[in-house]
Amino acid sequence: TPLLAIETSCDDTACAILDAHGTLLGESVLSQEDHAALGGVVPELAARAHLKALPDLVELTLQRAGLELKDIALFAATTGPGLIGGLIVGSSYAKGLAMACGKPFMGINHIEGHILTPRLPAALRPDETAPAFPYLALLVSGGHCQCIAVEDTGQYRRLGGTIDDSAGEAFDKVAKMLGLGWPGGPALEKLARDGNPRAYELPRPLKGRPSCDFSFSGLKTAVSRHVEPYGRDALPRQVAADLAASFQQAVTDVMTDRILHALDMVPHVTSLVVAGGVAANTVLRQRLQEIASQRGIAFLAPPLQLCTDNAAMIGWAALERLKQGEIPDDISLAPRPRWPLSERQPHQPHTPH
Ligand code: ATP
Ligand code: FE
Repeated sequence: TPLLAIETSCDDTACAILDAHGTLLGESVLSQEDHAALGGVVPELAARAHLKALPDLVELTLQRAGLELKDIALFAATTGPGLIGGLIVGSSYAKGLAMACGKPFMGINHIEGHILTPRLPAALRPDETAPAFPYLALLVSGGHCQCIAVEDTGQYRRLGGTIDDSAGEAFDKVAKMLGLGWPGGPALEKLARDGNPRAYELPRPLKGRPSCDFSFSGLKTAVSRHVEPYGRDALPRQVAADLAASFQQAVTDVMTDRILHALDMVPHVTSLVVAGGVAANTVLRQRLQEIASQRGIAFLAPPLQLCTDNAAMIGWAALERLKQGEIPDDISLAPRPRWPLSERQPHQPHTPH
């Protein structure tokens, strides 16, 4: 009894079909490349693009799975948090399919999808086993930077998060200062390979604080002060490379410190998992791997295509919830642009008497 999931909370349109065990039967992701040219996501354009892409994308995913719409037993979609336009488009489309097929619908929290993904069978290498509860999840993406204790399916405790920029934003903004394109993270990592991570002394915001909060704006400002003297477009390549390496080092140092504090807050966890696009960063991954082995716990990072926004994670979260005996949602369920993980059930629309 396969389920079909749709993800449209940001700029990627994604669809996936999973069987009852979580095996990925078919998957498609359409990245809205136009945003790169515009230097960021334009919500209105993203919503229109989702609407345009969804019918063909669902069809393609069904084809890849070798299935027809009538074979699908449940339709799931991201209902928050995210850009409201995209959320409405994706969830309405899934609801429409559910109604047309006479099958149930389930609305899924995007963050829940990210943090449960390391348990998705397709995310595991042959030599890995799924992280058992409880584990510590670090979500570092374009829109998020937070530490969550995952006690069980549906039992999440946010231990801390960023008080200003997300980790991805920090990478993107600094990359822009260094004259790199968007998204900046991968370009910055590449440039940093030619730089000296000790060339510039940059701040380590919040390092040593007894919390698991993050801050990146001071670090960003410090980089900009070193860029300023050269003026726009006249930054020597070596200076840029040294700044990139020093910035990456500072971020990694701070993250390591914050995660060690988080692990002190939840000493009972048996694994550290990381998700989100910034998890692609090899320097960061390596350091996290090191602190996990220091603490004698497992470290898991899903493959990149499952770290960034995808629909398999939404389908998987739906499966985990069903496994816990939860029932599908009412078709009237409204998407929520802000939806804290602690409030699992999206607010039902007010029914007039
Ligand atoms: P969200 O998942 O929060 O809804 P998003 O779609 O922007 O938002 P992702 O696709 O998970 O987030 O991640 C994109 C972010 O990851 C970008 O900010 C990008 O710069 C960053 N990123 C990607 N690769 C790397 C890397 N190698 N090093 C650092 N940052 C990276
Ligand atoms: Fe995401």
